[in-house]
Amino acid sequence: MEKFRGLGLKLTPQRIAIMQYLDGNTEHPSADVIYKSLTKKYPTMSMATVYNTLEVLTNRGYVRELTIEPQKKRFDPNTKHHHHLMCMACKKIVDVHSAVNVDLSPEEHDGFEIIGHHIEFYGLCQPCKKREPIKLLKGGSHQWQM
Ligand code: ZN
Ligand code: MN
Repeated sequence: MEKFRGLGLKLTPQRIAIMQYLDGNTEHPSADVIYKSLTKKYPTMSMATVYNTLEVLTNRGYVRELTIEPQKKRFDPNTKHHHHLMCMACKKIVDVHSAVNVDLSPEEHDGFEIIGHHIEFYGLCQPCKKREPIKLLKGGSHQWQM
């Protein structure tokens, strides 16, 4: 928790609980999930506290905000370079650590100096693949379909 001293956030028990919840968490929780997980033990926890704590942590670079799930921001305390794979059915997100070759041709990068990239993979996890017919991948209107 020492690293959060200089955040300029008053370290209330609620905020410390949010930081501890996120520390080392690999589930990529949404604000909702964080709130629901902590509200029993911290009845005075509010969504506003969850949101503003996440905002400060994100702005200071302690947490990375993921937009892989279109309707819901997800949060990742692992800010080292890596990619993500999401199950389209249950929205589970796992880390992808392989280096992916994404060199752009000069026409494609249009004179930009490229400083980073993040790749979002979509699929069905093992349990969902068994449960959900493959039609999920066809004929839907998901924006992430190829
Ligand atoms: Zn799944
Ligand atoms: Mn991650």
